[in-house]
Amino acid sequence: MNFHIMTLFPDMVEQGLKTSIIGRAEAKGLLSIDAVNIRDYAFNKHQSVDDYPYGGGAGMLMQAEPVFQCYEAVCQKTKASKEGKRPRLVYLSPQGRTFNQEMAEEFAKEDELILLCGHYEGIDERVLEEIVTDYVSIGDYVLTGGELAAMVMIDAIARLVPGVLHNDVSAEFESFQDHLLEYPQYSRPETWHGKQVPPILLSGHHANIEKWRREQSIIRTAENRPDLLEKAELTEKEQKFLEEYRKNSLQS
Ligand code: SAM
Repeated sequence: MNFHIMTLFPDMVEQGLKTSIIGRAEAKGLLSIDAVNIRDYAFNKHQSVDDYPYGGGAGMLMQAEPVFQCYEAVCQKTKASKEGKRPRLVYLSPQGRTFNQEMAEEFAKEDELILLCGHYEGIDERVLEEIVTDYVSIGDYVLTGGELAAMVMIDAIARLVPGVLHNDVSAEFESFQDHLLEYPQYSRPETWHGKQVPPILLSGHHANIEKWRREQSIIRTAENRPDLLEKAELTEKEQKFLEEYRKNSLQS
């Protein structure tokens, strides 16, 4: 998968994404991360890309033309453009749809993705209307720029690209799969600070371990993210287990 990031701070995203799993995946050629400096498309000799907003108000705004020229240049590099198409372009914005695992899975199906990072007070609306296909926020707070948000998105999407994680299974049984949070996990030693690993995990009985993990997931989700359970598909037995758990927690 190829990621193209339109930004005023290419070093920031390149540095952030070249370490650990994502960096190794790029080195192996499983994905590419191409950060393009919007400032290279400034049309004045000072290379400035921002100006005052019409109508007044605080702060500066990124101008339409450098963003548009940068977009055109990035599109030329994409595989899609060779087929006369345009790849999806995500504008990172606090006003967008809140990013979640389902969206990461959907974006991971694309061959190419362009991410546009705003700065200052944002970007002239007219260019956004022309080039943006998706508006995505990483949460209900305001960042100084879209770079960290783009890195969050790329990290979550890239790890779903086949081959990026060592073990494909580890991307399958994780939080938000089936609208449940992941069960608690333990590694060696068996006893740490006087706390034992739950004996069932040492039993070697796979069916019982799976059942225990699924129940722990249900409990975790009920405790931390009850909103997710509305969409979770639980068997009749699991539904009963949840009701029992809720009854007991109300009593204690
Ligand atoms: N004036 C804008 C508003 O109120 O909607 C906020 C601009 S913000 C200071 C500058 C840039 O940071 C935005 O253009 C966007 O790219 C990025 N940004 C800020 N918060 C974000 C969030 N929660 N998710 C994604 N991107 C964000």
